[in-house]
Amino acid sequence: MSELIALSARAAAAAVAAGGLDPTELFEAYRARAAADTLNAFTWVAEQAPAPDGAARAPLGGVPLGVKDLFATKGVPSQAGSKILAGYRPPYTATVVERLATAGAPLLAKTNQDEFAMGSSNENSAFGAVLNPWDRARVPGGSSGGSAAAVAAGLAPWALGTDTGGSIRQPAALCGIVGLKPTYGAVSRYGMIAFASSLDQAGPLTRDVADCALLFAHMTGRDPCDATSLQHPEAIAVPTAERLDGKVIGVPEELTGEGVEPGVMAAFEAALARARELGARIERVALPHADHGLSAYYVLAPAEASSNLARFDGVRYGYRAEADDLLAMYTRTRHDGFGPEVKRRILIGTYALSSGYYDAYYGRAQRVRTTIARDFAAAFEAVDLIATPTSPGVAFRLGAKTGDPLAMYLNDYFTVPMSLAGIPAISIPCGLAEGLPVGLQLAGPAFSENAILDAAHALEGALAFDGSAVRS
Ligand code: GLN
Repeated sequence: MSELIALSARAAAAAVAAGGLDPTELFEAYRARAAADTLNAFTWVAEQAPAPDGAARAPLGGVPLGVKDLFATKGVPSQAGSKILAGYRPPYTATVVERLATAGAPLLAKTNQDEFAMGSSNENSAFGAVLNPWDRARVPGGSSGGSAAAVAAGLAPWALGTDTGGSIRQPAALCGIVGLKPTYGAVSRYGMIAFASSLDQAGPLTRDVADCALLFAHMTGRDPCDATSLQHPEAIAVPTAERLDGKVIGVPEELTGEGVEPGVMAAFEAALARARELGARIERVALPHADHGLSAYYVLAPAEASSNLARFDGVRYGYRAEADDLLAMYTRTRHDGFGPEVKRRILIGTYALSSGYYDAYYGRAQRVRTTIARDFAAAFEAVDLIATPTSPGVAFRLGAKTGDPLAMYLNDYFTVPMSLAGIPAISIPCGLAEGLPVGLQLAGPAFSENAILDAAHALEGALAFDGSAVRS
């Protein structure tokens, strides 16, 4: 069995296609591991392997998939990490989960997450915190922490997450795996329980860059059920690049200096040195307004959340509090059903949108967003890709930041600007600091996923990060 688990998802799919591996046996091997999980990475695990049908012939070979709790999955709990949706089993499946199942990646388990994807540590889940497999006293990052921990620990071959301001990239970094936030619109949001609709994107969390490309290739595409989805202009290829000759990588001063832990900075600089050896040119680049990204994000995302979360009123979904009249039922349901961070965001967002304050907060934050997008567009005139550390620090101790929302929000400093600009960015593991993984973020212009995956693949080869120790 451990030999099966050692295979990358791509290698497993190839083995199934070649007839050397039984997809039911593969599913069962992962199912048993997921069912015995001690990291609290899952909110639901499949009871049995799907009936053997076309899996072996489909391109993803029947390699099972972990899916973040907030994706709607027909008949299977889909709770977005919230008490207010506890036990909710939707009548339909999210487009991206459906597409992947059709391509041969059946649902293995639903993964734990911060409530409504609000958080950077997975400690905001109504189903309890997830532990980091590198050190169980530490957080896996968030909000897709269950997906990241599961893939890192070999409890799932690959998984889906969502990223609104960093929720795929930051947990990938803290767990030593690969995570891609695609271009906004590249993947359908239909069936994703919404947090901030102008920012939310689904993406893969995988062991390596080739797996990431393979999964993404089957996720992307226009969906009539999501008006913001677009056909990707390029077919997504599994990357083979080993060199970076001719590539110009920009390092923004604004997104590298102050507040970064020394061990993270050292690993980041060592990764840049590897990039140079592979033939890349490293240049300074300016993103003059990136510093304001976090402030703008923490107005825009709560504003959209306050509107999206208005639908949870005890009438249509999930939890309903007992009360004598309708208004009391609404308020008690929301009082009991939402956790403290979700309530904080609803309050901030409602305030920012309220009459008289709209221009001062929401309107201004929207202008900052546009300015940041223009900064990136100008930067990409001069460089092919932009590199930053993914997160200012390595995985922190459970409880270390729960009492200080601002300290928690600072985790998103390097990931939020790309979300605001709608551009794709990947995190790959680039080394260890204090024995814990460090992530390197590579961002590119809209729809440059192939270029990002190629560069990430070349660097991955040179960096030779080994995460196998935590999969045992
Ligand atoms: N940590 C950020 C937040 O709490 C990002 C979350 C996300 O990307 N879903 O809003």
